[in-house]
Amino acid sequence: MLPLVPVQPRQIEQYRGIAGDEVLEEILSLAGGLEGARVAHINSTAHGGGVAELLYTLVPLMSSVGLEAEWHIIQGDSDFFTITKLFHNVLQGMDIPITDVMKSKYLSVCEENASDCDQEYDFVIVHDPQPCAMIAAMQGTAARKAKWIWRCHIDTTFAQDYAWEFLKSYINLYDGAVFTMEEYIKSPIEVPCLAFIPPSIDPLSAKNIIPEKRVQSDIANRYGIDETRPIMLQVSRFDPWKDPLGLVDCYREVKSSHNDLQLVYCASMADDDPEGWHYYEKTFHYSEGDPDIFLLSNQQGVGNVEVSALQAMATVVLQKSLREGFGLTVAEAMWKRKPVVAGEVGGILLQVDDGINGFLVEDIGEAVEKVSLLLDSPATAMRMGDAGHDKVRRNFLSTRHLLDYLRFFHILRGN
Ligand code: UDP
Repeated sequence: MLPLVPVQPRQIEQYRGIAGDEVLEEILSLAGGLEGARVAHINSTAHGGGVAELLYTLVPLMSSVGLEAEWHIIQGDSDFFTITKLFHNVLQGMDIPITDVMKSKYLSVCEENASDCDQEYDFVIVHDPQPCAMIAAMQGTAARKAKWIWRCHIDTTFAQDYAWEFLKSYINLYDGAVFTMEEYIKSPIEVPCLAFIPPSIDPLSAKNIIPEKRVQSDIANRYGIDETRPIMLQVSRFDPWKDPLGLVDCYREVKSSHNDLQLVYCASMADDDPEGWHYYEKTFHYSEGDPDIFLLSNQQGVGNVEVSALQAMATVVLQKSLREGFGLTVAEAMWKRKPVVAGEVGGILLQVDDGINGFLVEDIGEAVEKVSLLLDSPATAMRMGDAGHDKVRRNFLSTRHLLDYLRFFHILRGN
């Protein structure tokens, strides 16, 4: 079998106080009809990026309501992950040729992983393009008796046609597909069941519980950040779509009128993202040794508690993405009552209501204007932060996400 990712148990009842009785009762009622259903999630990494973040909560929550849920990761060498990152970039709009050699390497690794998938399940959820083509090698196997669902987490609105058509030939083999937004379906697909489900954050994870002030100060001191001065924060992988250089440009312009500003860019290096170090180095050189720019990563011990503390200490949070499937980091910051200045793209549009809980910006100039406004008006920042917290509580918590999956399982079973 594919390697299993261990997860810490979660208890659904712990969420009652935050999610409310109505949501909990609906979850329990729908889960009752799925008691003992065997669910496998398959993706390409257990560390770094939004999908891993989601599965650490969703998998144990599914188990806590009576399903038998587990999480497996596919295996691939560095060539495979270089190719899948290229697919990811082309699916998000970059125009880079995909050669037959690349396709055949991708398909052969998917096939090898499929041959390690030999257990029976009721539902198999395959996340993102990396393992998508496994389905082609599953026909006639015991594992294929399950309902297979492809879950797309990326923003494919501007996918190059040649990449979308290639992927679509595999998506069409699934029993169901889940996208975050309707716009992401570039041209009609032929899966029998389709759902639009936004991701979620776990209000009870270390990432989203705000550490005590003393812990926040220790973390700031550890990295040399001055918590008494304004902090502009972006938490993201080092990736072209997160626009790290644009973020530095924005910081520089704001700093010309707000001399005490600091920029913190906090990144996690994902196992399936070979571009991380390249973009880290580019950003490092672009920062030109500015002592008020802090480029931090999991390599310097930045884990969930540190990310949470930095989000809590931030004066304003940026998410200057050029494409964004959803952007868990936006919801995480909003949950901590921070106004978010974010690129007007993809799943960010589901979260940020312009002028209410943050600002949507089209370019660096607009970002500079809105960050400056928030630095100059703490009352506006606070009002927007409160509105953001409320929006996340109503729409983007793990319990709502679980509920949507349970509903979809019932639909797939024809209930
Ligand atoms: N993340 C983290 N440490 C970092 C940078 C990111 O734990 O230094 C987490 C972040 O908190 C979020 C996830 O990685 O939970 C990124 O998810 P998102 O949907 O924002 O972007 P993706 O990486 O999937 O494109």
